[in-house]
Amino acid sequence: MARYTDAVCKLCRREGQKLFLKGARCYTDKCAITRRAYAPGQHGQGRKKASEYGLQLRAKQMTRRYYGVLEGQFHHYYEMATKMAGRSGDNLLILLESRLDNVVYRCGWASSRAEARQLVVHGHYTVNGKKVDIPSFLVKVGDVVAIKESSRSSDKMKAVLEANGARPVVKWLDVNANTAEAKVIAQPVREDIDLEVDETLIVELYSK
Ligand code: SF4
Repeated sequence: MARYTDAVCKLCRREGQKLFLKGARCYTDKCAITRRAYAPGQHGQGRKKASEYGLQLRAKQMTRRYYGVLEGQFHHYYEMATKMAGRSGDNLLILLESRLDNVVYRCGWASSRAEARQLVVHGHYTVNGKKVDIPSFLVKVGDVVAIKESSRSSDKMKAVLEANGARPVVKWLDVNANTAEAKVIAQPVREDIDLEVDETLIVELYSK
């Protein structure tokens, strides 16, 4: 599975906001955005005003990086979003938010989406009682996502839960910490998604 392996804090600095790519560090004052809130590189502090295309590109890149999705797959989500009822920009974010790796992260069962992806691939979670090891699996209302019984007692999972269990959970997921289960009680809506992006710019970019 292809993935981005360069220094991830640079991505946040390029986009000018926290993308929460590095787990616990993102919630501390060691976060690179807190310390150096300007774009990386020699000219990072002297960037000119972006063009219309530049703004659209940044919106797309920021969203793609936030969810850790590669270009081809991101475009595929956009195409799916345009075929759904409603606003394409909202639909795009809802599709990304419904990915299993994002759900695992939102539940506090992984410290970052990258870690969530890895844990999903390693088969630590079930959906409706069946093991699902596909990070892009899309959950729907009524689905129950859970940490596999045999994985709950592993040292790795215990450490992950201890480090992330106190994170606030989005309101469309009902997480039961005792049973390590999360029920999807509603479809996510735009207001639930804490990414500061104008998604209409992404639609404009792809509609050209
Ligand atoms: Fe790095 Fe996380 Fe801060 Fe982003 S939010 S700059 S990944 S520490």
